[in-house]
Amino acid sequence: MTDLKRSWLESANAPDADFPLNNLPYGVFSVEDGDLRCGVALGDRIIDATGLEAAGILRADLEADVLDAPFWNDFMELGPKAWSAYRAALTAMLEEGANEAAQDAITIYSVPMGEATLHLPIRVAEYTDFYAGRHHASNVGTMFRGPENALPPNWLHMPIGYNGRASSVVVSGTAIRRPWGQLKSPEHETPIFAPSRRFDIELEMGAIVGVASNGPISVDQAFENIFGYVLLNDWSARDIQAWEYQPLGPFQAKATATTISPWIVTAEALAPFRTATPKRERPLLAHLQDTTPMNHDIALSVILNGETIAETNANELYYSSAQQLAHHTSSGCPMRSGDLLGTGTISGPEKHQRGSLLELTWGGKEPLQTASGLRTFIEDGDTLSLHGAAIGNGYRVGFGPCTGAVHPAAEDPFAT
Ligand code: MN
Repeated sequence: MTDLKRSWLESANAPDADFPLNNLPYGVFSVEDGDLRCGVALGDRIIDATGLEAAGILRADLEADVLDAPFWNDFMELGPKAWSAYRAALTAMLEEGANEAAQDAITIYSVPMGEATLHLPIRVAEYTDFYAGRHHASNVGTMFRGPENALPPNWLHMPIGYNGRASSVVVSGTAIRRPWGQLKSPEHETPIFAPSRRFDIELEMGAIVGVASNGPISVDQAFENIFGYVLLNDWSARDIQAWEYQPLGPFQAKATATTISPWIVTAEALAPFRTATPKRERPLLAHLQDTTPMNHDIALSVILNGETIAETNANELYYSSAQQLAHHTSSGCPMRSGDLLGTGTISGPEKHQRGSLLELTWGGKEPLQTASGLRTFIEDGDTLSLHGAAIGNGYRVGFGPCTGAVHPAAEDPFAT
């Protein structure tokens, strides 16, 4: 565990700051009606990386502009050596004792975070969602299929996933509208088309693929090629899901929206928090085996209308994002820069450590006691937030919130 790296920007040194110099996460911001720009969070400011590049003060690539997009994809395509060099150069300008010219440049090319609007940090190329949380998989399997069939027979041998929709990924703060869908309750013979009554969250991490690949890559190569991580809320309509999911898996239940936190916390910033996956219950095939610790110790929580209702940790993931990515490429599936890989819901073994309302209320049968009364699934007007931070010695590497307010369903979209 490393200590706080002190910055000359005092707000970055507060022990409860999400964005100390150890973090330096990457996002996209705008101020008033200005252009979207690539930015780096430090303390209570956002450094204008696009401006520093255009002025020739700090460039990731001497030949071409990579931060004018405004997305981090072009930068990501430069690869891990360039990521590391850029981070080191930026750190040198920001650390305590940096020369006056550097401090002046940063002061000119930065804005107060409170004045900025945050946007999607990447152009999401494609989106895949896994199911790599052991406790979540067994909880959901128990509810849907009974305790004897909780884990599918393949689960302990590979990370299960499905191909989602990049078009549905939105940045934190985007309003979410309750979806309509086809629902069928067991007591009715025929389905109906209605607003979801069991709308839910899923507390997940998302890994972002850095450089495109074309063919199978090893777990080690996959780990090297993950640019960074975000918090991810996979909004899920449980009633749509229960009716549609067999035999091809989730579809419309997961297609309304997926919210990600606005800052990409780099793999390098999380390096001091690497930790091993849980004990293997069955040996994995050679190409999926752990080589070094590739999970991360990241404290995670779910907040409903300002009240914390669940707390867990990313170290509960049975398969690391690197194992998910290696498995994803094993058939030869090409990956793109900006591919987003959701981990699946991260739950711990205890009841208050569950990362979805489905689990927290056991399918709605055990309502949750909250400050706003007994609760099961999401109600119109609720605001749901995910928070996450890796905790160091006197500092934290925070993700910033991953938030969405849920609005009532629209009028019947097919009404005549
Ligand atoms: Mn999910």
